[in-house]
Amino acid sequence: MTTVLVLNSGSSSLKYQLVVPGSGEVLAGGVVERIGEEAGRITHEVAGQEVVREQTVADHGAALRLVLDLFEEAGPSLREAGIVAVGHRVVHGGTSFSAPVVVDDDVVAAVRALVPLAPLHNPGNVTGIEVARELLDVPHVAVFDTAFFADLPPAAATYAIDVKTAAEHGVRRYGFHGTSHQFVSSAVAAHPAVRAELAAAGRGPETLRQVVLHLGNGASASAVLGGHAVETSMGLTPLEGLVMGTRSGDIDPGIVFHLLRSGDLTVDYVDTLLNKRSGLLGLSGVNDMRELTRLVEAGDDGARLALDVYLHRLRKYVGAYAAVLGGIDVLVFTAGVGENAAHVRAGVVDGLGFLGLTVDAARNEARSREPRVVSPSGTGPLVMVVPTNEELAIARQAIALVG
Ligand code: AMP
Repeated sequence: MTTVLVLNSGSSSLKYQLVVPGSGEVLAGGVVERIGEEAGRITHEVAGQEVVREQTVADHGAALRLVLDLFEEAGPSLREAGIVAVGHRVVHGGTSFSAPVVVDDDVVAAVRALVPLAPLHNPGNVTGIEVARELLDVPHVAVFDTAFFADLPPAAATYAIDVKTAAEHGVRRYGFHGTSHQFVSSAVAAHPAVRAELAAAGRGPETLRQVVLHLGNGASASAVLGGHAVETSMGLTPLEGLVMGTRSGDIDPGIVFHLLRSGDLTVDYVDTLLNKRSGLLGLSGVNDMRELTRLVEAGDDGARLALDVYLHRLRKYVGAYAAVLGGIDVLVFTAGVGENAAHVRAGVVDGLGFLGLTVDAARNEARSREPRVVSPSGTGPLVMVVPTNEELAIARQAIALVG
């Protein structure tokens, strides 16, 4: 057996999965939370059983040591599992990384050099890589959230600000959630229904026009032409674009100056406000789509407005991306909300009938873990639901690199 340990190391958490890249089977996985705080917690899942421990976890090194101990105690033993690589999720690759790389000291230094561009994410990623390299003597591969968008056309990647200032500070649109957008858009291109549509129209795969909506707690949209990303909604940071669980998405940048000046607020306060206390949470008091839906059904006006703002933004993006692509062949939904919330999918296409987009009510409501078409047969562009799997994508990219 060949396995890859996939690590997603945040500022105070460490998520992991032991994945069989060929079959996609997850042998075990879990999360260490509240690293560096008094009340740490580790949840390890294997064969449908959860092992939970509550204890102080001093730092990321201690967290990974705990994980390795749990693999030995609760299984599966990493020594016997045939682990050939560790795949690390790294949020920001800047312009230095447009593809996964095998980690060496230079790569670690380069990821650290990108911390000013991703102060909330890259420090945790670097620490995770460092402790894992010390404890696991196999090749380590860094997979970047920005890589799929590294070749965005200049017109999409460029902010209309002073070019010298932009160049000096690395200000451009980078895009995030790339591993998911790439995984989902390739699954769409390989889907029999999509291949059949293209074949019937006598078109090659290089002409396939997709709009991908990754709607989780974070949310982003991309326009993908023939497998290449040509637009995406996140920019210099993962704050731009769609309305998210706690992030505002697009706002007038003038709001920031207005708050700093007239509200006498600090930069850190406004940063936290827009990243952690805005979006659905800021509008309704809850960031979870299930809770928001319950509030809407109970007649809560704030929740109704939050959902309306969320859907309005999504419709604007789908329309804009159809324009960027010169038409649309597939609209695809993924991640927690996109895969599960049928009413959100219906709400997005409601009003987009002029693009030929519509859902079949029964198909849209049916629950499944498989990639599927939810639009009616034989009419217009396809609307699809494709479950994302970033860990599997990272494991496969790691294996492809280390052989
Ligand atoms: P993710 O970041 O991909 O894990 O997605 C998290 C989001 O998915 C949260 O807002 C959840 O409320 C939402 N979600 C998960 N399951 C469901 C569901 N069955 N119905 C609606 N939303 C869901």
